[in-house]
Amino acid sequence: MRLQRINKLLLFILVSLLGVLILSPGAFSGDSPEELYRGGYLQIKQADKSFYEKDYEEALAKYESAEIALGGIKTEYPEWSPELIEVRLNKCRERLDETRNLISENKSWEHPLKIHFIDVGQGDSTLIQTPDGTTILIDGGKIWCYTFLGDYLRRAGVEKIDYLMVSHPHGDHYGGLIKILKSFKVDTILVSGQKDTTDHYQRYMETVKSLKEVKYKMARAGDKYSFGDVELLIMHPSSKLPDSINDCSIIAKLTYGDESFLFTGDAEEDAELEAIGRGYNMKSTVLKVAHHGSRTSTDQYFLSRVSPEEAVIFVGANNAYGHPTPQVLRRLKRGGIKTYRTDLDGTILYISNGKEHRVELPGKAVYPEYDISPENQGKAIANRETLIYYKPREELARRVPPDDRIYFETGAAAEMAGYRRFWY
Ligand SMILES: [Zn+2]
Repeated sequence: MRLQRINKLLLFILVSLLGVLILSPGAFSGDSPEELYRGGYLQIKQADKSFYEKDYEEALAKYESAEIALGGIKTEYPEWSPELIEVRLNKCRERLDETRNLISENKSWEHPLKIHFIDVGQGDSTLIQTPDGTTILIDGGKIWCYTFLGDYLRRAGVEKIDYLMVSHPHGDHYGGLIKILKSFKVDTILVSGQKDTTDHYQRYMETVKSLKEVKYKMARAGDKYSFGDVELLIMHPSSKLPDSINDCSIIAKLTYGDESFLFTGDAEEDAELEAIGRGYNMKSTVLKVAHHGSRTSTDQYFLSRVSPEEAVIFVGANNAYGHPTPQVLRRLKRGGIKTYRTDLDGTILYISNGKEHRVELPGKAVYPEYDISPENQGKAIANRETLIYYKPREELARRVPPDDRIYFETGAAAEMAGYRRFWY
């Protein structure tokens, strides 16, 4: 009997509680300003936690629902602690902006612009990989660079070269391309249109002509190429080519958002001034210093127009030309321009999200080496691709890939067959 009464009492209390809950709909549906405020407050606290844990997507969703809850109080119950709501809303919106910025910044680093200034010794080679997946190669170093260059391109994930820009027809810029053209599919070759007279140039042009599907285009001042959000503007030469091969070098500016890179080949003072004279905005974040730091380029007037933050010099260690010259290094230093050099830093890799960049130094060139079997140790080792031969036991002989090798009993026999001694 006593138990039954207790049960009834409990039942009564439960029914009454349920009634109270049903009659005050705001209590669970969150409609009352107190509950809306509490809900919003908790959302912000959880969002803050996700924010500090760098789960920005989760933080964004929670800040957004907190903004809706707090905004609801402002419109539905304008009299309810308006100052408190204003302060909380402002704070919440500040965090929302910060979170949205971080999400878009993280997204921009997912597919950055990559510019590899590849260490090819005394020569130029720049690989550009744009966020939309376009591959551009500017120059390809000297003729014997191809083993390392091909290796590097493959390691960087290059399967096809969309644009191959040959700045000008000198061997330290197109030499390595003879083999690259045979090993990689190339869509379009951009050139200045100037010619050279050397045997290697003939072989390079024969290779170009043998590739029927390759488009061959002249790069002319004013031409623009777009690769998604990246733009390439040709600033030099015009159709009236200068006599000097160096001054025919293509000068081109690549822009991605707030960042830009100026490529100059081996352009000398006249070409630099002609480009300025065309009225282009020369200002660039990074300058590829022309002509390996020769004193006949990177004129002070040009440098002040470009006003780069950083500079890159392609130069071989202990080269015979005295590059880079103290004059150019002094001009760069005076301008407070941070300068990278391939002889000291190896390959220089710029990674940019269009607002800022970071630089990585993946190391100096390491050329693949191949064994020489004992019966061939004493012979001259020649390379069919480069038409260069090496003396027995010379370190560089090991760099000739087995498929490209041909052995001669003596150096004289190699020369009789049209091969030349390796020159530096
Ligand atoms: Zn050069």
